[in-house]
Amino acid sequence: MKQIYKSNKLENVCYEIRGPILTEAKKMEDEGHRILKLNIGNPAPFGFEAPDDILKDVIHNLPKSQGYSDSNGIYSARVAVMQYYQQMNLKNVKVEDVFIGNGVSELIVMAMQGLVNNDDEVLIPAPDYPLWTAAVSLASGVPVHYRCDETNEWQPDIQDIRSKITDKTKAIVLINPNNPTGAVYSSELLQQVIDLAREFSLVVISDEIYDKILYDDAKHTCIASMATDIFCITMGGLSKNYRIAGFRAGWLVVSGNKLIAQSYIEGLNILSSMRMCANVPSQHAIQTALGGYQSINELIGDDGRLKIQRDMAFEMLNAVEGLECVMPKGAMYCFVKVDAKKFNISNDEQMIFDLLRTEKILLVHGSAFNLKEGCYFRLVFLPHVDMLKPALEGIANFFKSYRQVS
Ligand code: PLP
Repeated sequence: MKQIYKSNKLENVCYEIRGPILTEAKKMEDEGHRILKLNIGNPAPFGFEAPDDILKDVIHNLPKSQGYSDSNGIYSARVAVMQYYQQMNLKNVKVEDVFIGNGVSELIVMAMQGLVNNDDEVLIPAPDYPLWTAAVSLASGVPVHYRCDETNEWQPDIQDIRSKITDKTKAIVLINPNNPTGAVYSSELLQQVIDLAREFSLVVISDEIYDKILYDDAKHTCIASMATDIFCITMGGLSKNYRIAGFRAGWLVVSGNKLIAQSYIEGLNILSSMRMCANVPSQHAIQTALGGYQSINELIGDDGRLKIQRDMAFEMLNAVEGLECVMPKGAMYCFVKVDAKKFNISNDEQMIFDLLRTEKILLVHGSAFNLKEGCYFRLVFLPHVDMLKPALEGIANFFKSYRQVS
């Protein structure tokens, strides 16, 4: 029999957050080990539950959710999303500008399939949320990574972005608040991105799935609210802010200069129709979530569970000799720099394998986020302090004696 190979389209597509190390972790679990999985931002397993009102609404609407919906989403959800962005000062957003999807993940792939021709370039942050890079590659485009500056709280380096723009550059992607770094971008920085987009006719695409997970005095600005003459795409969803990642509910909103993007918007409509519609029961969660009581604020405030966990992770990681982490201002991750020299590290994936085997803790190595320089790992600070503290002690213990054998 002939071998069956994956298509060439998948050649440069990689998503290591769920890659070979997770396979090893699963193998260890099968052998009877208990693994603490701090590799993905999945709130529910750590006791973060969706607000009751959201669940009630979905249950209430379940019998009415048996058929396909409009391919771009049910009306109440689209209106709720439209109003959400109107409150953020996005001008001229209409119901037809909202596309509901099965999570932001589906919409990222859809947005890139609709935009990118062979060899078109898309600017993506490094480190990134790797689905962005994968989606550009899958669409036969070229992901071009721009530098985010650790010494400047991981803000994008505008000079680096400028130096990477070519006549093939079609769009710039921002992730704000950022996964994996936790950076929240200043409005000055966003203004500079807009100026570049204006100068080089770039589409601005902003992944704002963590827009309500902000700590201390961090303030999130939706970049699309800052310009009407540029075509912008904003993405958000319920997975993180409302802790219902399994519901697969997200949205994409087009705004700004929609006149220049009529053909692209038509493409989005084609792609949206091709997959019939997003999961209908989950779409019913959107209106209640966006309009109702915002319980996330209790989790991120001074006595909030997420903030306390963030503070503990930040302090304990920075207390380890050879580890250094910039304070995350948003989201649910610490992105930690490892002194590769001190620990003789030449392979960051090996470091994560070794940690998994020794401490039974699963993290993600920095290069999985398309960061080519330096040695890093990302830790998800979702576990309750009772679980987080021993995990951080385990990490500290590992690095006390670690020397990578090459
Ligand atoms: N965008 C970013 C920056 C993320 O971190 C994630 C999930 O971790 C997603 C998108 C995927 O979100 P969804 O669950 O809506 O598909």
